[in-house]
Amino acid sequence: MATIELQAVAKTYPGKDAQYILRGIDFLIEDGEFVVLVGPSGCGKSTLLRMIAGLEEISAGEIRIDGERVNDTPPAKRGLSMVFQSYALYAHMSVFENIAFGLRLARVPKAEIKVAVHAVAKMLQMEHLLQRRPPQLSGGQRQRVAIGRAIVRKPRAFLFDEPLSNLDAALRADMRVEIARLHKQLGATMVYVTHDQVEAMTLADRIVVLGPNGVQQIGAPMHLYDRPANVFVAGFIGSPKMNLFPATLDAAGQLHIGTVRLDWADARQPQAGSEVTVGIRPEHLVADPQGAIEGTVLLVERLGAESYVHLAVPGLDKSLMVVVSDEPPAVDARWRVAPVAGRVHVFDRNGLRMDASAQATSSGEVVAKVS
Ligand code: ADP
Ligand code: MG
Repeated sequence: MATIELQAVAKTYPGKDAQYILRGIDFLIEDGEFVVLVGPSGCGKSTLLRMIAGLEEISAGEIRIDGERVNDTPPAKRGLSMVFQSYALYAHMSVFENIAFGLRLARVPKAEIKVAVHAVAKMLQMEHLLQRRPPQLSGGQRQRVAIGRAIVRKPRAFLFDEPLSNLDAALRADMRVEIARLHKQLGATMVYVTHDQVEAMTLADRIVVLGPNGVQQIGAPMHLYDRPANVFVAGFIGSPKMNLFPATLDAAGQLHIGTVRLDWADARQPQAGSEVTVGIRPEHLVADPQGAIEGTVLLVERLGAESYVHLAVPGLDKSLMVVVSDEPPAVDARWRVAPVAGRVHVFDRNGLRMDASAQATSSGEVVAKVS
């Protein structure tokens, strides 16, 4: 298995007037680590993964696998297996032949191929499907074949590009669990691209959040959830999304959000009138008759186990979302809520996290500026 190291990696496409798709990408993926690259569509996730695979040239910087520079190493020599969203299976070949294809090219003896394919099919619980062809399989089964084809080559690391995006929600959840199990079983280094932050949260040892300006933050999932380094990460990680509002911070350390006043325990040397952004997750607001935030209930979405309450608060430009697990208030009712202590996030005018912990980065964490 392998470490993967990116150093000052950048990508421009010719004809784009030296406009960078990606620049200054720096991080180290540890041996056996599950790293998820997450970010909105078009931010360069696939490009980055394809550069690691060698399918796309890098414009600057260096990529090392197990310490060895691979900038000029062709894809087949990098020892990596990639799984694509589109499955990329051969429709006219059986499942067995699809999985065996890479080994055949590598002239592995027939008997050995047979053993290897059956072992992989067993691991993925698809031994009964080996004689079928891809058109005779469901989407989930096809993706399983694509994963089997990647595993059988015993790669140094796996690269996944949105492998579950074409599956329906229930199947996606099943396959997510299966990929987590595979990672445990194989102990392999995995780099996994997705735009789905639930997949990122549940699968990753560490998440790399990519935004329009490159890497926004790198860290363990709960670290990103608890301490997003900037407004971009705050809005991207967490479901439902964090409530974010423009506010001012006065000299006494009080936040003014429209007509709402909140004390902020973490305020240090605030400047009167500082423009900030306040973030509170919907699950960190609780009903409280003495709460500082009062509004009118606009809409209640009942999901069964919990409800999303949309509260119109005077002076706020959009409604506030609150997650409630007991009986929600009625539509049109007046309702008061308060944030859970220590769960108010404040970001400065540049969008960077402001509290005392903001500077203390855990090992390997990168904090990038939002602009
Ligand atoms: P993601 O996977 O995050 O959705 P991509 O890596 O596919 O994003 O694309 C990142 C950006 O690079 C996009 O703006 C896309 O239009 C651009 N891009 C991708 N491939 C090419 C190409 N061959 N030539 C020019 N621009 C490209
Ligand atoms: Mg992509």
